[in-house]
Amino acid sequence: MTTPPFVKLDGVAKRWNGQLGVEGITLDIPAGSFTALLGPSGCGKSTTLRLLAGLEEPDEGRIVIDGKDVTTAAASERNLSMVFQSYALFPHLSVAENVVFGLKVRRVPKAERQEKLARALEITGLLGLENRKPGELSGGQRQRVALARAIIAGQKLCLMDEPLSNLDAKLRNAVRKDIKKLQRDLGITVIYVTHDQTEAMSMADTVVLMRDGHIQQVGAPDDLYSKPANTFVAEFVGAPPMALLQSSVLDGFGDDRTIGIRAEDIRIVPKGEGRLRCTVNESEFLGAETLIGLTHEGASGLCVLKPGLSLVPEGTEIDITFDDENLHVFDAAGQRLAG
Ligand code: ADP
Ligand code: MG
Repeated sequence: MTTPPFVKLDGVAKRWNGQLGVEGITLDIPAGSFTALLGPSGCGKSTTLRLLAGLEEPDEGRIVIDGKDVTTAAASERNLSMVFQSYALFPHLSVAENVVFGLKVRRVPKAERQEKLARALEITGLLGLENRKPGELSGGQRQRVALARAIIAGQKLCLMDEPLSNLDAKLRNAVRKDIKKLQRDLGITVIYVTHDQTEAMSMADTVVLMRDGHIQQVGAPDDLYSKPANTFVAEFVGAPPMALLQSSVLDGFGDDRTIGIRAEDIRIVPKGEGRLRCTVNESEFLGAETLIGLTHEGASGLCVLKPGLSLVPEGTEIDITFDDENLHVFDAAGQRLAG
């Protein structure tokens, strides 16, 4: 027996005066999973989340949450919580008051409120800060208050829209782990919007990559990385992105294909022994390794990684090679063929 999806989108579309928001969004999300909606700015991530939340109504399609068709249901009837980039905290209320606000509105008795508050503050690491105002907290702490407020609601589904964008890189890493752990510990279903592929790849069980209002690929992080469905996915997922070559540059691939290759699959070889002679156009020291950017006619994004600090002067000629089994082959329209 297969368990039905906890969240189901079926052919969902949203337009404003004919202008596209999203179209043909069909997606099954299992209970207790962590799904990332990933893609560049304007691709329709927030629109999809707002449709799920009931903040927008679809022009086409159906939305089912926990077995109930909620396509036209009010936001308040959907039994979910939301966390936004902007935190949306009340500045004049304390941490504790912000966290229990929703429970108060729903007239949950005080003793129950206090008990739930203590638990929510504990799991978000905010104990001791309950009397502070948001203005007296760091960005990371404010985002934890927003998380605590979402958790205390006790809903099985939590929608998050770029919740970490206002935090600096180090804090982002820490809160990323916190959110992931919380999701696992509480067993809730999280749908998480981000434009940051590292964030999506490191947190999600399933990544949904979107472009121009359409889904490009749905899969585990490794599926998108090792078997990108098209050249857009190939270039969006992974750092550095996959390099793309016109097939005419290589022997035996015809001339209307695009060949993808990742930096870790490229080896530098002695002059005359490579498959491509390239020119170094930049060296970037990353810490554990140095990224050497290469140019070759008909290729974009070519680079190799050398261990440690290994700068190569711009203009140096380098021969590279790679194995056919590591090449990704796309057709003239950019769709994956094989490899
Ligand atoms: P993302 O969150 O991926 O950056 P959005 O879902 O916010 O993208 O936007 C998707 C598209 O829908 C964009 O072209 C955006 O301009 C458009 N859009 C979003 N909200 C509205 C709105 N309220 N009115 C008109 N167009 C909108
Ligand atoms: Mg958005």
